[in-house]
Amino acid sequence: MSLTKVEKPYGRSYNFSAGPATLPDEVLETARDEMMNYKGSGQSVMEMSHRSKVYIDIFTRAQKSLKELLKIPDNYDILFLQGGATMMFSGVLMNLIKVPGQTEKPVVDYVITGDWSKKAADEAKMFSDFCTVNIACDAKTAEGYVTIPDQSTWKLSPNAAYVHYTTNETIRGLTFNTLPEFPEGTTVVCDMSSDFLSRPIDVSKFGVIYAGAQKNAGPAGATIVIVRKDLLDRSLPFCPSAINFKKQAAKDSMLNTPPTYAVYICGLYFDYILKHGGLEAVQAQNEEKAKILYETVAQSDGYYEVLVKDPRFQSRMNVPLHCIAGGEPDKDKMTPHELKFVAEATKLGLVNLKGYRDLGGVRVSMYNAMTVDGLKMLREFMNQFKAQNPPIKKE
Ligand code: PMP
Repeated sequence: MSLTKVEKPYGRSYNFSAGPATLPDEVLETARDEMMNYKGSGQSVMEMSHRSKVYIDIFTRAQKSLKELLKIPDNYDILFLQGGATMMFSGVLMNLIKVPGQTEKPVVDYVITGDWSKKAADEAKMFSDFCTVNIACDAKTAEGYVTIPDQSTWKLSPNAAYVHYTTNETIRGLTFNTLPEFPEGTTVVCDMSSDFLSRPIDVSKFGVIYAGAQKNAGPAGATIVIVRKDLLDRSLPFCPSAINFKKQAAKDSMLNTPPTYAVYICGLYFDYILKHGGLEAVQAQNEEKAKILYETVAQSDGYYEVLVKDPRFQSRMNVPLHCIAGGEPDKDKMTPHELKFVAEATKLGLVNLKGYRDLGGVRVSMYNAMTVDGLKMLREFMNQFKAQNPPIKKE
């Protein structure tokens, strides 16, 4: 029997977008209910002054909920800024390289495990007049970024101002399922954009965590920065005020207008996660979803293939895959089978499965708000597609 279109409330689809990404219905429903007149204030949250009491309550609640979710210790500030994770690539550098007592040119260490950490390192290189950028590890091989070299091979600098890495690479799905450990005293800076809040983490191991909200925490527009307070005195003098952690922390992220509505939605999302069992529950669900997908691929007799083969580094968030023997790829690196896969999936209400533009194929992003039911439906679709579309043999 052929699959029929998904039936979800409001005619919504299962949305596998890599970001901006799917949000929980409950969050959107609350936003809808509060849209025209937020709790009797006579205004939409979008229309409020960020200095008003009603909005400051929303903002501080979002901070409090995030602190509770991630068990953020008291010696950290939580900032909601603008500019995206991309702004933070240079932002963290401009905020952190003046190490107290260091007179020589600072060194910053970068661990490159994919496209985003490479971009972060490239951005740091723009500041080569002020610091030396040391690539402590570059995971790229002839096949691309498919595995992460053992940490014992990384060339960390003894006095680096910080070491930067990316927990989950959104494009190629290469991830640290076990987070790396660094020598005592290392200032660890982490781009967690695409697996933020996907599992519990020990915040005290990090100097700075930053993430664009638009994958696992809310809509685009808010950039979340969690910074240890003792690092607030290390900025370059020309670090722009809007992204100066110390200046923003002193004004509780209100030095300029924060992304007010985006922070409100983030707050609703944090409360939603707290209400539904916190990060342990999120992690269990993310493991279950990933298991469904990786097993479907493993049981496909090679019909589907994932890019990252080593389970230690297989992402629970973003999984690029190809239909092997799907015919000749076109200019967008999509084979006829893959084009058909994406088109048929879309018709069934499984949307945004097209692979990243440089990779082609299919990419399944399954952030926190994607349900296990979504993955079960995808599994059925993948199995049906395989049965109906035999491999295309090369002439
Ligand atoms: N880092 C990672 C891991 C990402 O996935 C992205 C966005 N896809 C970015 C950084 C850049 O984020 P933004 O678009 O918010 O600048």
